Amino acid sequence: MKRSPQPTILVLLFVAALLLAPLFLPAFYVTLLNYIGLYAIVALGLVLLTGVGGLTSFGQAAFVGLGAYTSAYLTTVHGVSPWLTLPAGLLVTGLVALSLGMVTLRLSGHFLPLGTIAWGIALYYLFGNLAALGGHTGISGIPPLQFFDIELRSGREFFYLIWAVLLVIILATRNLLDSREGRAIRALKGGTLMAEAMGVNTPRSKIVIFTVAALYASISGWLYAHLQRFVNPTPFSLTQGIEYLFMAVVGGVSHVWGAILGAGLITVLKQWLQDWLPTLLGKSGNFEMIVFGLLMIFVLHRARDGVWPFVQRLFPQRRPGACPIKAQALPRRPLPETDSVVLEVKDASKRFGGLVANDRMSFRVRAGEVMALIGPNGAGKSTMFDGISGVDPLTSGAVSFCGQRIEALPARDIARRGMSRTFQHVRLLPAMSVLENVAIGTHLRGRKSFVAAACRMDRDEEARLLQEAAAQIARCGLYEQMHEPAGSLPLGKQRIVEIARALAADPCLLLLDEPAAGLRYLEKQALGELLRRLRSEGIAILLVEHDMDFVMGLADRVVVMEFGRKLAAGLPEEIQRNPAVVEAYLGGVE
Ligand code: ADP
Ligand code: MG
Repeated sequence: MKRSPQPTILVLLFVAALLLAPLFLPAFYVTLLNYIGLYAIVALGLVLLTGVGGLTSFGQAAFVGLGAYTSAYLTTVHGVSPWLTLPAGLLVTGLVALSLGMVTLRLSGHFLPLGTIAWGIALYYLFGNLAALGGHTGISGIPPLQFFDIELRSGREFFYLIWAVLLVIILATRNLLDSREGRAIRALKGGTLMAEAMGVNTPRSKIVIFTVAALYASISGWLYAHLQRFVNPTPFSLTQGIEYLFMAVVGGVSHVWGAILGAGLITVLKQWLQDWLPTLLGKSGNFEMIVFGLLMIFVLHRARDGVWPFVQRLFPQRRPGACPIKAQALPRRPLPETDSVVLEVKDASKRFGGLVANDRMSFRVRAGEVMALIGPNGAGKSTMFDGISGVDPLTSGAVSFCGQRIEALPARDIARRGMSRTFQHVRLLPAMSVLENVAIGTHLRGRKSFVAAACRMDRDEEARLLQEAAAQIARCGLYEQMHEPAGSLPLGKQRIVEIARALAADPCLLLLDEPAAGLRYLEKQALGELLRRLRSEGIAILLVEHDMDFVMGLADRVVVMEFGRKLAAGLPEEIQRNPAVVEAYLGGVE
């Protein structure tokens, strides 16, 4: 998600306009604004889920229905106060979302949206077929909300409640995204592999945003039930679910304010088209849906990021500060004693179907040494890295890290023990700044929860994490580029950002996959210097690299791979003299 750095004054003007709106606008427009607010609350959940987390849901309308029906049923049948049915609705929706999420979020690619369609339809028909919920006729006579002696009976009174709720939710969502957990959510969009390697529990992050989006929808449903004082299944259908997605995408699915904009645009446009199209065409019918379909195709072609970025350009942008705030330094992990074995790989094999990418590989890496893994393209070096770091587990064999077996652990647990890595094919979030990308590396060094982040109770810790990220960026020589989008850097520098991100995790073992590729001579020298410094601090480094001058000048020991097997191992000068190596690798390349 891109930040929308807007001066606070614009937000205050917006709030002032909201406060005055019901006093001056005709009732029709107040009603329209009420609906825009209700829709925006749901669309905001989709911003979090789809825009930020990359998970598409067509089923949000069903969660609105759960909130609305829970309150309608409990207030009319059991006489429960509407203020108690809100938490009840949230509880019901939360439980349903958790169960549905656990089943559907495992699905990948287009199966996930299909899954959301399936349960969206199922819940819709459940509302229509349960006699206790009034079947397709619905439930009427829902009591109005009451604030002490004031009953919220008119749209004007309700207006303030809806928009206050919406603003609070916007604020909480922005806070959440601008935090450690928020970065973890944003990392989901780049695929779960990198996030897991940085220690993020990605299934948990997915479930959390899925549930939060469902809870937003449920709140909107509760408000809707007491505004209308009547519910039936129609507004909770799949069609409405698709419309919510339209709103989020048209407004700008990765921008918090895009939710309001999208809800506003679609609602006003729909109203306008419903008024004018029948007159224009001389027939009545749902012609607006045809226009929406075409509009959607246009937006997907011409403005993938929705309308909000165009609005944003009209406002002055807030420049990020030079360096994050001064904060207390984070504690460091105690490093293993120099020369002790940090990593031991024994008989490690990896098969892809019939292809043996790693064939009984064995080697050790000690604290305070740089070990190079070299070999021709396709020899199996990157596969070895994936096996060691748990990103793509080995088929057989053992890996011990600091004396403990890790080959069966998920990548995030291995990261927690102090192993950190970079990727041969750079895995950064191109739209996020270098600072935010590197801060993902600090994920395991913080512990504040989603709730703390949403309430802004994480600021101390956040300052410490950002300061650590900034320090690693400076150490890697990228201080000047700290606030630039990572994707704008040349590829060689992006690899250095990956090193800074790995260092931000405070590792005792660093796995670097071709870190010098794409660097110029002086940049390579600087990288060599950095790695020597890390080695002297006691970090163990396992390095894959093709530049032989770089490798031979830096590595303490070298392991050569060919066709997945270990061809030779030894000191750099031994390797350079080894006839088999010269024949198989160096000879072929030089
Ligand atoms: P290196 O990093 O030494 O260049 P890799 O480890 O990337 O080599 O690849 C080793 C072999 O494994 C190659 O033949 C490659 O095509 C194959 N390979 C790597 N990843 C996969 C995968 N996910 N599925 C199938 N084959 C793979
Ligand atoms: Mg490779």
